[in-house]
Amino acid sequence: MNPIPIASATLAAPAAHAGNGLLVVVLLVLATVLYAAGHALSVRLHPWRPCRRCGESGKHRGSVFNRSFRPCSRCGGTGRELRRFARLP
Ligand SMILES: [Zn+2]
Repeated sequence: MNPIPIASATLAAPAAHAGNGLLVVVLLVLATVLYAAGHALSVRLHPWRPCRRCGESGKHRGSVFNRSFRPCSRCGGTGRELRRFARLP
């Protein structure tokens, strides 16, 4: 008498867990799709980001005579670079 309820309980538990797992997967996929759509819209509206090498100054400074500078080689002196997946406006 006793083993049957335990067996049914152990059989029912994985099924309930699988249902929750499917819900979590669906929510994660939905969140990913929403994030990707929002990111694509953001890249479309704002294609530029500050240059990572010069920090938007557009200057590469000398290490000894640090008042002297030349244009940053990464951004060409503009201080900005295109975000990933962005097209030139
Ligand atoms: Zn730069």
